[in-house]
Amino acid sequence: MMFVSSPTHFTVDRRKFLAGAGALIAAGLLPKNALALAGPHTFNHGDVTIMVLSDGHLTLPVSLIAPNGNPEEVKAVLTALGVTGDKITPAASPALIRAGNEVILFDTGSGPGFQETSGKLKESLAAATIDPASVTKVVYTHAHPDHLFGTSADGGALTFPNATYYVNKAEWDFWTNSELPGKVPEQMKPMVMGAQKHLGAVKEKLVLVKPGDEIAAGITVLDTPGHTPGHASFAVPGEGGGLIIMGDIANHPVVYFAHPEWHFAFDADKEQAVATRKAILDRAATDKVKLVGYHWAYPGVGFAERDGTAYKFVPAM
Ligand SMILES: [Zn+2]
Repeated sequence: MMFVSSPTHFTVDRRKFLAGAGALIAAGLLPKNALALAGPHTFNHGDVTIMVLSDGHLTLPVSLIAPNGNPEEVKAVLTALGVTGDKITPAASPALIRAGNEVILFDTGSGPGFQETSGKLKESLAAATIDPASVTKVVYTHAHPDHLFGTSADGGALTFPNATYYVNKAEWDFWTNSELPGKVPEQMKPMVMGAQKHLGAVKEKLVLVKPGDEIAAGITVLDTPGHTPGHASFAVPGEGGGLIIMGDIANHPVVYFAHPEWHFAFDADKEQAVATRKAILDRAATDKVKLVGYHWAYPGVGFAERDGTAYKFVPAM
């Protein structure tokens, strides 16, 4: 099987924001749960400013974690993390970079109707006083629902109407293949049809990229396949060893740092995903690269340190 799945002011003062947001909620201009969303978490990196937004979180079966691991060992690792039930609730956190006049959003979240606890990016942007119309570039790590389905509304209206859209060519070619819907099992069809719908919606404003290409301000495409055939990450030059927008290379910052060889059930090509994970974590540990993980506990910013033959996640201060 090819893959498995189911499914402006930038540095606004937090207290001022809370007061302002409270008034907006009272006036009905912001949803009541706007304050329940995490963030925004903002930091400077070299010449750019990075903001981690929240699309909420997902609710997924715990059985996705390490189907190839020793069950007792997996259970011990999860129990130590406080995960004792049959569900995990990973965060979903798109990153936004301001570089000069560019406002660059990495992934669009899951949009409405995917899961009740996700699809909150618009609220998160409103809370950060960022107008979706001000986003100049939307860049995708991959075309899974939780990264792509926030792209357009029913009818095709784009959430980010003025943006140019950047998709890794290998990812575009895989998902937009007209024969794909006929090749996948029935339960995967909604995901494929959704990917074709949202990718189709940006067709007129599309830039297909390949590994090594520059998005803006020295930000380049990294080839990180495995989770999906054309999964991409993004290297952002700057302080120290730079920074990598990881996407879904390592979907838990404790489990997959300690056990990069463990599979994640949604990884399309599991051995390729393991090879990518090991390569990027090795590079990150060697070069002291700051990492931003889409599904890590919010805000999901930190470093990989060597720990025996594997790694440990050290949150950035
Ligand atoms: Zn994901």
